[in-house]
Amino acid sequence: MIHPLVYESFFENSLNALFILKDDGTIVRANRSAVEMFGYTEGEFKQLGRPAFIDTTDPEFIEMIAQRSARGKGRAVITGIRKNGEKFPLEISSVVIKDETGEELTSVIAKDVSQQVGQEQKLKVLLDQSQKLHQKEEDSRMLLESVLDSITDGFFIVDRNWKILFWNKAAENIMRRKEAELIGKDVWEEFPDLKVLQEHIDFKTLFEKNQSVRFREYFPAYRIWADVSAYPSEKNISVYFKDVTEVKNLRTLEQLEREVLEMNARPDSDIGDTLNFYLRQLQEIHKGMICSVQRIRNNKIYNWAAPSLSDRFATMIDGCEVGEGAGSCGTSAFRREKVIVVDIENDPLWSQVKEAAAAEGVKACWSFPLIDSRNEVMGTFAIYYKRIKAPTKEEENTLERAKNLLMIILENRLSMEAVQSSNQNYDMVAKATNDAIWDWNVETDHVNRTGNGLEVLFGYKFEDAENEDNFWNARIHPEDLPRFLKKQADTIRDPSKLYWEDEYRFRKKDGTYAYVFDKGYIIRDKNGKAVRLIGATRDISERKESEALLLELNNRLKQRADELAASNVELERFAYIASHDMQEPLRMITSFLQLFKKKYEDHIDETAEQYIHFAVDGADRMKKLIMDLLEYSRVGSNKGDITEVDTNELLKEVENVFLTRIEEMKATIVIGDLPVIRANRTQMFQLFQNLIGNALKYHTGESPRVEVEGKEEANHFTFSVRDNGIGIKPIFFEKIFVLFQRLHHKNEYSGTGIGLAICKKIVDKHGGRIWVESEPGKGSCFYFTISKSVDDYRLP
Ligand code: ADP
Repeated sequence: MIHPLVYESFFENSLNALFILKDDGTIVRANRSAVEMFGYTEGEFKQLGRPAFIDTTDPEFIEMIAQRSARGKGRAVITGIRKNGEKFPLEISSVVIKDETGEELTSVIAKDVSQQVGQEQKLKVLLDQSQKLHQKEEDSRMLLESVLDSITDGFFIVDRNWKILFWNKAAENIMRRKEAELIGKDVWEEFPDLKVLQEHIDFKTLFEKNQSVRFREYFPAYRIWADVSAYPSEKNISVYFKDVTEVKNLRTLEQLEREVLEMNARPDSDIGDTLNFYLRQLQEIHKGMICSVQRIRNNKIYNWAAPSLSDRFATMIDGCEVGEGAGSCGTSAFRREKVIVVDIENDPLWSQVKEAAAAEGVKACWSFPLIDSRNEVMGTFAIYYKRIKAPTKEEENTLERAKNLLMIILENRLSMEAVQSSNQNYDMVAKATNDAIWDWNVETDHVNRTGNGLEVLFGYKFEDAENEDNFWNARIHPEDLPRFLKKQADTIRDPSKLYWEDEYRFRKKDGTYAYVFDKGYIIRDKNGKAVRLIGATRDISERKESEALLLELNNRLKQRADELAASNVELERFAYIASHDMQEPLRMITSFLQLFKKKYEDHIDETAEQYIHFAVDGADRMKKLIMDLLEYSRVGSNKGDITEVDTNELLKEVENVFLTRIEEMKATIVIGDLPVIRANRTQMFQLFQNLIGNALKYHTGESPRVEVEGKEEANHFTFSVRDNGIGIKPIFFEKIFVLFQRLHHKNEYSGTGIGLAICKKIVDKHGGRIWVESEPGKGSCFYFTISKSVDDYRLP
């Protein structure tokens, strides 16, 4: 027989609300849990009666009362009402009993089932049990035991030597041991896993002070959190335990979620740290769970956080393509839905990598895709177990919550990272350039400056600019400011303008002015109103200076060119006048010498005659020189027309000039197919005459062979006159084109050294150039070009 105190202790300390009612609904007793559940004191319960805390109009309730009066017992989930007005689902089990005096009373066990979903099964068991237990309702011991058995929480009684006296059904279920085999056994011996309890049980309070002890503890062997209460009575200890894993986990989870969100919100927090922390804590809540998060980038998977997996295993997936059959994660990212692999070894999704999983010791893997608000897969959330396992309902709930939280923090972080990286890029650009970068909010008129351009270029610190209104404009050169302001205002006002730019003088910290080039991109709102300008100011003082220098140099050069041109003209005029005017006295010298010779022929000796010969010869040469010089000066002053010249015909005429010489020397002249050009015909004639003349003149013993060719090119015609003569040393290639430059003595080869200078001048005048290729002893080839564009001609 159980001592009444045990009954009392059980009644008072039950974690379920218990009531004893009279037939008319008046409350006789309400226990502590009832007080906690509804918020009324026992006195208030007694005073107010049933309708205060139960919705008596609830059809379920009416049905239950009817059931009870018919069969002596009833069960229902009805609506409870707390003192604060809150309604909640209340599972009640009610039995009619008789007390010692024979008065009919009703016992009610009430349970707040607002936290429970899908507990029908439990309710059914409860119903069965209460049906069973109420069969012997006159027996109060049985009643008590049955009541104890009917409750869903574990309850057992031990004597003061820890021998088990009573073990209820719930305890049988939770601890997986039958009462029959436990009665009379030592609880610590039977349940070595419960030894942890000894640390928590305050034996002194329990035994000496005869006071109850309550605590919450995790029982690894049963994978549950339980609230445990131990109540001492004279001889026994009643232990009441309730599986609070769900409630406890939910609270912890909520707390954790708050912490993680806070952590994530901290600007300096690292997403990797946050993830690792969160996953570790989840693993704490659900013992045995191994959590990891993967990132998906460009359709490939990378490990992101896996605090309890080996590096080798966690990074094994790095770079794997998302796809059907690519493990739990690759598949869930691909299907965009959760993938539950209960048994890795026998699941086709893992066939490729099951050895790696075996090496890691993981046997189950569930993966959830993490999808952002733009419906893109950011990553996956994967849970591993070291045993074959499907998720329980509760685990699924937790994971669903965790998945949602991960999606929030990841999306938030990723978008923050994106902003940060673009800001960083902006800063980098600001650093990389020497320009002063600015960002002007037109509406607030605030300017944000980045980089160190402002200081490097102009000597100002950010604070200088920050602390002074109108900082910038106040430093623009007063002569430039009005134009600057007008141009800026006009550009900003014109919605078609995307950029504003200007050049002006800006006063540096040291007081000197820098020339700056300023350019900004204009951001406009949908009405075309400028709201922001982002730009860069560049110091172009150096460029300006070199521009000025260049301008000056150009001017000087032009002046020199003008002077030179003037002096050339003068020179040519002088040469013309000189050669022209010198002819007359020269003719006089020659003719008087000849007269002298004739008249005094008989009186002069041989020596005198030779002197006269020298003088005449000198005068002849001088005449030739003068003629050539005259020719040379004429190239500049000749105003001859530009006409169409068929160079084939021209060359025939030139050939005619040399006919006698060709015959004498047995020379050959080969003329190719030549083009028709536009040029000064007389000058072209002279050009070919000089070149062919030289080719015939500077010959070796062999009979001379001259080849003339010409071809049309994109912008000019190129001609060549090739001979098989004595050739020229490369060091003279330039020199021979200079006036009076000769390589030979007059006795060797006659000449004045003007021929090629005339050629050069003619070619110059036709916008072309002349050069020679030659090897001494092997002949020379003179090339020249004539421009196709008359604009290039420098003929007067
Ligand atoms: P000139 O023939 O009156 O001396 P040019 O100005 O025509 O004067 O020639 C300058 C010099 O170039 C010549 O003295 C000669 O040494 C060299 N020269 C010109 N044409 C040829 C050539 N076809 N072969 C070899 N040397 C040449």
